Amino acid sequence: MNKNSKSRVCEECGGEVSSLPAVIEYEDQEIHLFDPVVCAPCLRTLCEKYSTTCVNCGGKIPPYSQVGVLKADNGGKQFVHMTPSCSTVGSAFHGFWGKGKLKHFVQIEAC
Ligand SMILES: [Zn+2]
Ligand SMILES: [Zn+2]
Repeated sequence: MNKNSKSRVCEECGGEVSSLPAVIEYEDQEIHLFDPVVCAPCLRTLCEKYSTTCVNCGGKIPPYSQVGVLKADNGGKQFVHMTPSCSTVGSAFHGFWGKGKLKHFVQIEAC
């Protein structure tokens, strides 16, 4: 056996991941995930656990995707899809929605 076979291991369950990206259909969206490496069943579990809701269209925003961030009146944050139809609602920030938490939160410079 040589060590060249690039089998990857799912970060969640430790199982072997035969193809990347993991692709599933979730809430009428096709979700592709290259990084982190997870298998399709785990990706589905992550989506079910950690998705947040887009305040513009009411759809689900899956984990590990870019989000638009809006400041809510109560000082909290609200999230929208980074799609042309959802991100036009005046979001001044964007970020990366991870496992139920916002990462890489960046202010977009107005120009
Ligand atoms: Zn897995
Ligand atoms: Zn949306």
